[in-house]
Parts: sequence; C-alpha cells; structure tokens
Amino acid sequence: MHNGPQAQSRHDNRAETLAYIEMVISLTDRAVIVSDAERNVCYVNAAFTAMFGYTLDDVSMIPPWELLAGPLTDAKLHERASHSGRDGAFFHDDLLLHTKGGDPIWVSARVEPVFDAAGKFTHVVGMLTDITNAKRLQVLQREVLEALARDVPLAELMTFICSQVEALAPDVVCSVLAVDGEGRLRPLAAPSLPAFVSDGVDGLAIGPDVGACGAAAFGKKDVVSRNIGTNPAWAGVGERLSKSGFNACWSTPMIMRDGKVAGTFAFYFAQDRDPSPWHRQIVDTCVHLCGMAIERDEAKTRINRLAYFDALTGLQNRASLRRKLGDRFSRDARRQTRTAFLCVDIDRLKDINDAFGAPVGDAILSAAAKRLADHVSYRGEVCRLNGDAFVIAIDADREGAERHARGIIEALLQPFETSGVALPLSSSVGIALYPEDGQDVDGLLRHCETAMFEAKAKARGSYKFFDPAMQVLNKTRLVLGTALREAIACDELELVYQPQVDCQSGRIYGVEALARWTHPELGVVSPARFIPIAEQVGLIEAIGGWAIRSACAQLADWRARGFMVPAISVNISPHQFRNTGFCALIAASLDAHGLAPSDITIEITEGVMLEETPAVVENVRKLAKMGVRLSMDDFGTGHSSLSLLARLPVTELKIDRSFMDRIEDDATAQAVVTAVVCIGQSLGMTVVAEGVENDAQRRFLTALGCTVHQGYHYSRPLDRESLEGWMSGPAVSRRSA
Ligand code: C2E
Ligand code: MG
Ligand code: MG
Repeated sequence: MHNGPQAQSRHDNRAETLAYIEMVISLTDRAVIVSDAERNVCYVNAAFTAMFGYTLDDVSMIPPWELLAGPLTDAKLHERASHSGRDGAFFHDDLLLHTKGGDPIWVSARVEPVFDAAGKFTHVVGMLTDITNAKRLQVLQREVLEALARDVPLAELMTFICSQVEALAPDVVCSVLAVDGEGRLRPLAAPSLPAFVSDGVDGLAIGPDVGACGAAAFGKKDVVSRNIGTNPAWAGVGERLSKSGFNACWSTPMIMRDGKVAGTFAFYFAQDRDPSPWHRQIVDTCVHLCGMAIERDEAKTRINRLAYFDALTGLQNRASLRRKLGDRFSRDARRQTRTAFLCVDIDRLKDINDAFGAPVGDAILSAAAKRLADHVSYRGEVCRLNGDAFVIAIDADREGAERHARGIIEALLQPFETSGVALPLSSSVGIALYPEDGQDVDGLLRHCETAMFEAKAKARGSYKFFDPAMQVLNKTRLVLGTALREAIACDELELVYQPQVDCQSGRIYGVEALARWTHPELGVVSPARFIPIAEQVGLIEAIGGWAIRSACAQLADWRARGFMVPAISVNISPHQFRNTGFCALIAASLDAHGLAPSDITIEITEGVMLEETPAVVENVRKLAKMGVRLSMDDFGTGHSSLSLLARLPVTELKIDRSFMDRIEDDATAQAVVTAVVCIGQSLGMTVVAEGVENDAQRRFLTALGCTVHQGYHYSRPLDRESLEGWMSGPAVSRRSA
C-alpha cells in the first residue's frame, strides 16, 4: 500500500525524525531506560549511565529496579515503580534511589507502558530526572522555617543558614548583611569569613562603588565582583580578602514587598568566577528566607514598641510599667527603699477637647506628659495609664510622696501654651505606698487609682493617700458582683453569636459566642464591664463553664436543624486555665452533645501565659492534644510575644479591633497589621481580623491575604434566631462581593 514516491518521502521523514529523537535522547540530562514486555532492558541513554554509573550491560544482567534500590529507598514506592507497565499501570512519583557508588539520589520518575498499533503491550519506558538538589533546598527551607517559629535570634538564624548553605555548596563561603534604616550595612552572619571583613563593612553606607553588597543593595540587583584584590570598589578589605583566598564575590539584594532592601546575601569564591546555576538556585531560596526573617524581626521590634509605648506621649504604658516594676519587685523582695505610686489625673481634659478640639487636647496632654517626665527625671518611672491618667512610681516615703504630689499639681498649673491659648491644668493625685498599701504592682496601681478618685471627689486639684476604708467605696463593684451571682444562678445570662466570614469564599467560617447580661434595673451591662467584676469576685469560672456548655448545646442544635455552622468560639478568661478540671469540663460538654473537639475554638488572651504555672501549661497542652483549637484573641494589644505564640499550640490569631480604625490612614497600624498577618501565616495559623466595619478595611485586609473577618460590616452579634435568619439570607455572599 505504501508504494511510490510519496511513501518513500514519508519513510525519509520517519528516518529523519528517528535521528532527531536519538539525538535528543542522547543529549538530554534525563535518564531514559526502556525494557521489553518480558522486562528485559533493551536501552539506556548516556544520561542514565552518567546519573547512576550503570551501563546497558550492567542492567541487562540484574533487573534495573533491583540495582537502583538501596537502604533509603521507600519499599512501597519501589514496588509500584518496578511493577509499572504491567496491565497498563504507570508510575509518577519522587523516589530516593542509589547510584552504583552507593550515593543516594532523589529522582522524579515517570514510568509508562507502551502499546503497539494493535493495542499489545510491548515496552516500558522510564524517564528519571535528578531532583536531589531541589529536595536538599526543601529540607533547608523547612529547617529555617522551624527555626523561625522557635523565635531563634536573627543573627543565630542567619549563621545557621550560612553554614547549611556552605554544606550544600562546598565551593563557596557566604555572608548575610542587613541594611539599616539609614542605608548602612550591618553584618548579620559570615561564619566562615575572616572577622576583618565584617568589621570593615559594618556601618558603610551603601553605594554603587561599595564592594558587591553595597552596590547590590544600592542598585537593587545582584552584582558579581571579580578580582576583588585589585578592584577599587573593595578598597580597605579587597587585598586582605584576596590574600585569605577569596577572589570573587556575588551579592544578591533581599528586596521586601514594599520595595525596600532589607539586606544582602553574598557568596565568596576562591576562583575568579561567576556563580553556577546551582548557586543561583540556592540563593533564590535563601534570599527569600533571610528576607522573611529580617522582616519578622522588624515586626517584632515594632510590635514591642507598640505594646509598651503610648504613641501620643511617647511614655511607656501600663504593661511596660508592670513588667519593669514587677521584675524589680520580685528580684529584691525585701527592699529597704520604699516606692510611692502616684496616680495623676487631669481634671477637665474633656472640656478642653470640647472647647478647642481634640488636636489641642492632644497637644496639651503631650506637653503635660513631658512636664511629668521632667519632674520625675531619672528618679522613677512615668507611664500613661489611659486617656488622661498617668502613674508615677518613684522611690519615696510618705513625706517624699506628699512633696512630689504637690510639686506635680503645681507644675501642671503653669499654663500650657498651644495654638494661641494658654491653659493651666488642674489635676488630682492619688498615692499608694509600697509596701504598706500593696505588695504587687497591680494592687498598687489599683489602690493609687482608688485614692485618685477620692481626691477628685473631694476637691479638684488635691491629693489623697490610699486608705483601706476607701475600698468600701468600690460599692458598685460589690453590688454588681452580687447581682451577677444571682443572674448566673437564675440563668439570666445569654449568649449572642457574631459570624466570622471567609470573604474569599463568601462562606461562614465560624461564630464567636459573646456573653450578654440584662439587669432588671441597670439594663444591658456590657461584658467589658461584668467580666472583670466576675474575675474579681470569683464568678468567672462559673461563667466560663456556662458559656462552654451553652455554646456546645447551641452548635449541636443548629447542626440538627440543618444550619451548618462550622465551629463556635468561646472566650475563656485566663483565670479559668488555673483550674485543673477545665479540660474535663470541655470534654464532657462536647461529649454530651456529640461534638468533635475541633468544633470548638477557645479564645484566650496573652494574659493566660503571664503566669506559666504548671496547671496553666498543662491545661493548654491538654486542650491542644484533645484537638480543641486555640485562638489568640486581641493580638497586638498585650505583650504580643512571638516566642509565646510559637510555644503555644495556637491555631488562630485574632488581630485586635483597635487596629481597624487606624488601618486606613495610619502607617504604624498598617505596618503592624501587615506584620501580624505575615507572622500568623508563616506559623501556619488562620488570621482573623476583628472589628471590620467598612469596605476599605475589608479590601486592605484581603489584599494582605487575611480573608477571615468579623465585624459590623458583616454582622453585629446576633441572638440565636437572628443568626439563623442571617444564615438563610444572602448576607454573606452579598457583602463579600
Ligand atoms: P472580644 O473577645 O475581643 O470580642 C469582640 C468584641 O468586639 C465584642 O464585644 C463584639 O461585639 C465587638 N465587635 C465585633 N465587631 C465589631 C465591630 O465591627 N466594631 C466594634 N466597635 N466592635 C465590634 P463585646 O461583646 O462587648 O465583648 C467584649 C469583650 O468581653 C470580648 O472581647 C471578650 O473579651 C469579653 N467577653 C465576652 N463574652 C465573654 C465570655 O463569655 N467569657 C469571657 N471570659 N469573656 C467574654
Ligand atoms: Mg473574643
Ligand atoms: Mg478580640
């Protein structure tokens, strides 16, 4: 049938194609091996021999899969690979094999059966790609991420990366430099370079002629510097480096998402050479990892600053004061010196705000803060407690404290001049003394505040010492506490539920259960008010137990009636974690309603771990082991300790809603939110944004990859029925469109 010139030309074409195929197969770096239907090997290409060291003769004697398997080969995968071809089975997977010399080698294998025109099985073709290097990079990446999660200090982490890289590429020595805020090079790690290099580079401003790293950071692209012994850009260290055996350097900048250069990653070579493709692969991986580590380190510093300092006045906040003095008090428990706590409250700041506007109020507050700091100078600590209240802790006895109180009141009475007005400030001061009025910082803070309220009630512009009788005046607390006790006993508390929405899929992610209390006379009392009271009067455990039982019952009820609520979050006070029966209580509630541990999320605040007592640690671990999910609530407002995050088995992070108001125009809030999202994601946690109230906030968060939102933009907290209505409506998809 195939006679004549046409058939001849087809035949020539075929021969040509075959010649091409042969050429390709002998040149490719993929190992190719072909065997017939009886599994006798009939062909191996040059790459196969180069990769494994075996020739066609070797593999004709012993079945190839037997030759290639070794002590590290996965037996199941190997079995599948060696039987592929039979019954049309193919095999696509990564395998660890061994060369003739016994070296392990990772391959990506494709083994395919071949059939002739009549559908008869004739051959098996195996194609193997060496992916050893890719696997080694994966291992490096995993180890670095693990170290990041453990909060290993930056320089230590960078040294670790350098030594791992030097093991992967024995022909290079590497260095990591950071670029500081002023554009200067700061050595982070260079474990195998002589010390004079780091010393010589430290503090150099980046620029086009500053070695390879200065130039790479400056030009934002990688730079290869050769002949560094004589290269003018290496003035200072070049000659000595060359004498130490280094002649070329290749530096790559780490460019962050905001376009800033965080640092450089450099390879030093003995030969005067360019980097190889393998070097480039390593650097691609490392630049990313190092950049992430530097970015996280900066975020940590920023969060700490935010957590401990008040942005308006530049003074430390309550958390910082507690930390500092708490440490000091516990270090020398039997101190001879006495400390006075003075709570200073500005009397009419609200009037000033109303009359002259908030910017004037802010300016005066900052100026007042400065006067307090000047008054205290190095003799003690000043912190901004809240809005217009400050606390001063200063070494003084009763008489000294009295002198300070008068001095402060006097200092604030000197008019403040701002925006063309001169205003004196009247203030009230409450004083509590250590040790007689309290042994710990929290108690002393509470007592000086109580005394301040007394002073203010007596006469503006006066001071008062704390007196235990004043505590009786905390009557409201007492009254509320009693009423709350009754409310719990009569089952008058209720839960409302606020949906959390994954705005990417438009689906509901979960609901947060929030406690509500309506008092017959006082009306609605906010949990922000009654939860602290419950903690003080010992009712918090009862509330916690009630919340868990009610939430479980509600979730089971919804599911039974076809409302698919994926999970319910319950807020648990740190106090509850001291209770050894806590986990059993949760287990029993889940059990009673046929729920799985992962159906419930426990929201904790950082306060939980402030006292890492064995009972607390045990409860947290036990919960996680049970499979109950833990969420870190209000993240960014407390200590925001990253090491705490990495140490706790937390699966979810909730960004505090205080950041949301400012997210649209405040660069610090944006930076913190960006950092928190990044950290959460890199630790594999779900990041939930709280308090999302408008579309601009939704967009900002979504662009960061934070898609689980909770807030009025989606829904307010709802009672059971309203939530069911909300779930049946189009609310979720409409709002996230
Ligand atoms: P949280 O756990 O951070 O709860 C979120 C709070 O933010 C809720 O206030 C919620 O109503 C409010 N919120 C939600 N979306 C928005 C928004 O878009 N804008 C604004 N401005 N606010 C929003 P809520 O219900 O008053 O609760 C206050 C705090 O009381 C809670 O803060 C939680 O710490 C505590 N709490 C509530 N229920 C319980 C409970 O059962 N047990 C314990 N231990 N604490 C509870
Ligand atoms: Mg919460
Ligand atoms: Mg919260």
